[in-house]
Parts: sequence; structure tokens; C-alpha cells
Amino acid sequence: MAATAMPFEHLGEGLVTDYFIVREQLTDEQWERFRVTRRFVDEEVLPAINAYWEPAELPWPLMRRLAELGLYGEDIVGYGCPGMSPLARGLVNMELHRGDGSVGTFLGVQSGLAMKSIALLGDEAQKARWLPAMAKLEKIGAFALTEPAHGSDSVALETSARRDGADWVLDGSKRWIGNGSIADVVVVFARSDEDGQVKSFLVEKDMPGFRAETMVGKGASRSIWQAEIELDGVRVPESSRLPGGSTFKDGPARVLVTTRSICAWGALGHAVAAYDAALTYSKQRTQFGKPLCSFQIVQERLVRMLAEVTSMQLYCMQLARLEEAGRLSDTIAGLAKFNNTTKARQVIAEARDLLGGNGVLLENHVIRHMGDIEVIHTFEGTATMQTLIVGRDITGVGAFV
Ligand SMILES: Cc1cc2nc3c(=O)[nH]c(=O)nc-3n(C[C@H](O)[C@H](O)[C@H](O)COP(=O)(O)OP(=O)(O)OC[C@H]3O[C@@H](n4cnc5c(N)ncnc54)[C@H](O)[C@@H]3O)c2cc1C
Repeated sequence: MAATAMPFEHLGEGLVTDYFIVREQLTDEQWERFRVTRRFVDEEVLPAINAYWEPAELPWPLMRRLAELGLYGEDIVGYGCPGMSPLARGLVNMELHRGDGSVGTFLGVQSGLAMKSIALLGDEAQKARWLPAMAKLEKIGAFALTEPAHGSDSVALETSARRDGADWVLDGSKRWIGNGSIADVVVVFARSDEDGQVKSFLVEKDMPGFRAETMVGKGASRSIWQAEIELDGVRVPESSRLPGGSTFKDGPARVLVTTRSICAWGALGHAVAAYDAALTYSKQRTQFGKPLCSFQIVQERLVRMLAEVTSMQLYCMQLARLEEAGRLSDTIAGLAKFNNTTKARQVIAEARDLLGGNGVLLENHVIRHMGDIEVIHTFEGTATMQTLIVGRDITGVGAFV
């Protein structure tokens, strides 16, 4: 018998979950971004994504549609980028993750990490060369910070940058690099032999000594690829060094502040998708002669999920307001990422259980979100790392080592 013998209807479809009516605060620009992305997710991502996710294929038609919708570049102003407000950018990321983590992460890598590094740390020539093409997805970018021996402690990275006349020579290994094997340009962070500081470089895929291999066998975010990268004497001209990123603090750490707040929005998207599916399912599924939603325990579980989703929405709204006011800090973004990915994991696990056996079927979507939230919980600083960052802030005592 086919697994689809008794399909449940519209489990992937978004409800209008906005219990504290926060959407009334949206401006026309924010509302329009939200509406367009939401429609794209419902009409194009959800019907297609499982067929890419299961065989771990890249959903190129969906990635190209992100360019047609004018989403790459997000909040970057000029250079063919959309210049969204922080709230509009958050809503776009929330909706994409409500559809699928890989699609949301693809935008995050291309836009939030690679393009943002060039926009924040690059000079005029570098921005003019790369950003307009990347906004159209004519060029793909990646962000290479993590190494095989340095993940949470990436501040201790070992990839080296040796000055040789007018060039730099890069040697080392990177791991887990999103889009690394399909990128035209990779932002590589390497330690200078001159001052021992971490510098930022633009490495192009055809530079001799650069090699990237797609990692296989992931149980989450299967429709985006990560790569292991080898840098073997890669010669990079000084004009490919990003001048604004001459230390770890000025370089990757600066880029990661906003992307961590985007992770909080992405986690909200995954949680909303799971809650919506659980609510819809509980009205359709009958046991003991009654719909699941008529049992007190089921209602209590749904309300707990809604309470978490609503608190995550409020976190995200305030994150956007703080960023707009220029007051978003690494610790605030860190607390939001910690809170939202932790809560989203709980909400999605509840939803998975409320769907019973149907909860493990890909066609009902929740199990895909359950895998994908693990990735956001881990990358750009694990939940534990965010805890340590905030813990140091409130106590004044570092507990990392
Ligand atoms: C799907 C995916 C995509 C990614 N994309 C990118 C990318 O595009 N670019 C990039 O540069 N990187 C990327 N990463 C890497 C990611 O940022 C790292 O996986 C992450 O920072 C954690 O590093 P790690 O995996 O080496 O784990 P580790 O650092 O080895 O941590 C293992 C565990 O130990 C805990 N831990 C570590 N130190 C401490 C401590 N002091 N006290 C208590 N607990 C501790 C951690 O919280 C974690 O639970 C990606 C990762 C994944 C899984």
C-alpha cells in the first residue's frame, strides 16, 4: 500500500498564526515583502521541495526565483540590491524557512554571509565587481570560517596568509562551507604571518591550489550543499583582500552579528510551520471517535506551542527594531538565536509527535523541519556558544575555557 493511502490535507500550508496581531505594525514595504515571499513559499517551494530534499539535490529553479523576486542582497543598499529594512529582511527569512531550511540557508549564505562580507568589509571596486552579479545569482558566493579543527573556537583558526610581494599565499583547510563547491567566490578568513591577525580574502574558484569537495550523507538541510575546502598555496592579489576585515573582531565577528539575528527569524519560520501543521492535523485526525483537537491534553499542547511561537515572534520584532535603531549587539543577537532555536526544537518535536506516525513522513513536512532546525541550532555559533557569550555579558566572567 502506498504511503499516501490516507493523505492529510494542506499540512504544509501556512495558517495566519499571529496571535498578538504583530502584523498590524508592518509598513507597506514590510507587508509587501512578507506577502510576496509567503506566496512564493506556498505556491512554489512547498509543492516542490521534498523531491529535492530526499535525493539531496539543489533546487536551482527555486534559487533562481529568489533572484527574480529581488531577495539576494537583502538589506544592502545600492549595487542592484533591494535595501530592505531589518524587519522586511527578517520576515523574508522567516517565510523561506517556513517553507524549507535549505532554501532559507541558501539565501543566508549567498546574501547574509558572502554578499554582506563584501558589502561590510570590501572596497568600492570589490563591491562593484561582485555585488550586482551576486544579486542576480550570476555569481555565487560562500563564507569560509570553520576549519576541521576549529568550529566553536574559530577565533583560533589556523589557515595561514603569507605575504609574498604584492600577493598573499593562503594555505589550510576549511569544512562545512555552504555553497563552497558551487561558488564563484569564497570569502576566506586566514591568519596573517605579519601581525598574527585574521584577515579576509576573496578567493576565486579557478585560482590554482583551490579545491572544494561536496560533503555527503547529511540528515538535515539536504537541499543545500556544504564543502570541504583545501587551500594549497593559493596566490591572492592584495586587491582581493577585504580591507575592512583586518582582525577577527572587525571581520567575521561583525558579519555574524546580523546573521545570528536572521537565524532567530529562521527558527521562528520552522516553528510556525510545525505548529500550523499540528493544528491542522489535530482537526482532521480522529481517534476514539473524536478529532484529536477535542481532547484537553492535545489543546494544552497546542497552546504551549502557540505560546512559544508567539514569544519568538516578539523576540524577532524587537530584534528588528533594535537593528533599525543601530542598537543590535552580538549578545542581544546571541540571546535571540539561543532562545528561538531552542524553543523551535521543542515546538517541532511536539508537532512531530502530535502527527503520530504521519509525523515521520516527508510528505507531511514536519520531519524535514525537525532535521533542518538542528542545523540552525548549530551553525553560526551553537546554542551553547550563545549561552557562553551572554553568560559572560551578564556575569562579567568568561566561561569558555
Ligand atoms: C549544515 C551546516 C552548514 C554550515 N555552514 C557553514 C558555512 O557556510 N561557513 C562556515 O564557516 N561554517 C559553517 N558551518 C559550521 C558551523 O558554524 C559549525 O559546525 C559550528 O560553529 C560548530 O562547530 P563544530 O561543528 O566544529 O562543533 P564543535 O565546536 O566541535 O562543538 C561540539 C559541541 O561542543 C560544544 N562546545 C564547544 N566548546 C565548548 C565549550 N567551551 N563549553 C561547552 N561546550 C562547548 C558545542 O556547543 C557543541 O555542542 C556549518 C555547519 C553545518 C552543520
